[in-house]
Parts: sequence; C-alpha cells; structure tokens
Amino acid sequence: MATNGTSGAGGRAPVKKAKVAQTHTGLVRQARRINRELAEVYPYAHPELDFENPFQLLVATVLSAQTTDLRVNQTTPALFAKYPTPEDMAVADPEALEEILRPTGFFRAKAKSVLALSADLRDKFDGEVPGTLEDLVTLRGVGRKTANVVLGNAFGVPGITVDTHFGRLARRFGWTTSQDPVKVEEDVAGLFPPSDWTMLSHRVVFHGRRICHARKPACGACPIAPLCPAYGEGETDPVKAEKLLKYEKGGAPGQRLKPPPDYPGQPAPPLAAS
Ligand code: SF4
Repeated sequence: MATNGTSGAGGRAPVKKAKVAQTHTGLVRQARRINRELAEVYPYAHPELDFENPFQLLVATVLSAQTTDLRVNQTTPALFAKYPTPEDMAVADPEALEEILRPTGFFRAKAKSVLALSADLRDKFDGEVPGTLEDLVTLRGVGRKTANVVLGNAFGVPGITVDTHFGRLARRFGWTTSQDPVKVEEDVAGLFPPSDWTMLSHRVVFHGRRICHARKPACGACPIAPLCPAYGEGETDPVKAEKLLKYEKGGAPGQRLKPPPDYPGQPAPPLAAS
C-alpha cells in the first residue's frame, strides 16, 4: 500500500519534469495507475455527505454548493426531521426553510431550489427521485454534477462527478485541458471503463480535498507524486508539505457526522477544517 509520502508510487523520489506529449495509450496507462494508487491511499473513499435515501442525497448535494460537506452534514438532520419527504418539503414555509439552511450560505437561493425540486418530484415523479440522468436534470436546480452524484451513490449507476476538485486534478494529471465540466467528464470517461467512474470520482475528490489543494498542493507529501505531471506546482519540501494536509491525512477527522464504519478519524468535531 502506498504511504503518505513521496515514495508511494514506485518508491522513486519525484523530480519536476518537463511536460511531454503522451500517446492516448500512455495516458490511459498513467490514468489507471493513478486510480490504483489513489485506491490504496483512500480505500475508504465514499460520498462525504450523510444521507439515508436518494431524496436526502439529492437535497444535500444541492446544499453543498459553495460550502463544505461537513457544514451540510451539520444542517441536514434538522432539515430532514422537519421535512422528511418531497411532499413535506414542497409545502415548507420559505422563511422557516431559509432559517434552517442559513448556515450553508446562499440560503435564500438554496431554499428556492429545494422547494422547486421537491415540487417537481411531487408533481412529475410521484414523490420519488428518478434514476436516470435525463429525468434528474429536468428537476429545477439539478445539473449534471448533482445528477451524477445521485446516480452513482443512490442508484449504483456509474457516473463521473466533475466538481471543482475533480476538474482541477484532471487538468493537473493531464487527463483534460478543458475548463468545461461536461468536456472534462467526456475526456475522463474515455480513459476509464464505466465500472471505475463512481469510485474514481470519490478518490480524486478525496485527494483534492486532503492533499492536492487548489492554491497550495502538498506535492512533497503526495503519495502519487512520481506519477504526476504537475509535481512541483505546489510545496515540495516534505516537512512544509506535511503541514498542508487536511482531514485525516492532517490528523483531523473527515467531514461525515454519520460515517461508514471503516472511515478513519471519527467522530468529526463541530468546527473541523474547511
Ligand atoms: S500536483 Fe502535487 S499534490 Fe497534486 S497530485 Fe501532483 S504531486 Fe500530488
């Protein structure tokens, strides 16, 4: 198993290298190797939102825009206790709903989205969350990213979830050059079989949240550094890089308040790192 150091993938010390053009076959090999390494680093990767059914996952995913999953997990127990079904949520008093959603930020817009998608579920889908991409994206406030999260984790349908972390890492790995999430999804889908898509998404997002951060990637403490064409974009000094690690890699709990049993570092305190 790869360790949390720069010798994880192949035991070689990484060096900053010039970016060279890859053949498609070479890119596929590199991509799948990175996925295998990430699977060893994050064997417990999973959605970081707490949910008990597809409706809860759908709403929690909508609420997770512009905030942490931890913040959403702290908010949804009260929300679903008061409005357990789409029918209940669709007739919620908007001000009461906004008050519950306030800690997640952009709470007025989020309350509107949640009310609208609950009404859509009630009126068009008999109160059930549909299990296809085509139907999910017809719900107000639901785009491809949210739809893929719900499909992959509530219905077992393979999906690539291109959030800010996934897009950034896919570009750093050389899997795409696009900023457009739909094109990123397409490019990455061409490198992996569908059976890999959902877990790949979790692993890449886990890596982005814990080690390969947007502004200061912790390259010097990164287990996949020897495989990464972007090694050197961040801090390469191992001691300084170690200090940049977050959640369980940095010695703190993860984001779930009701985690699966194999999830390390639980329970999460109320104010973990963002
Ligand atoms: S950019 Fe740095 S931290 Fe990110 S995957 Fe590459 S080596 Fe690791």
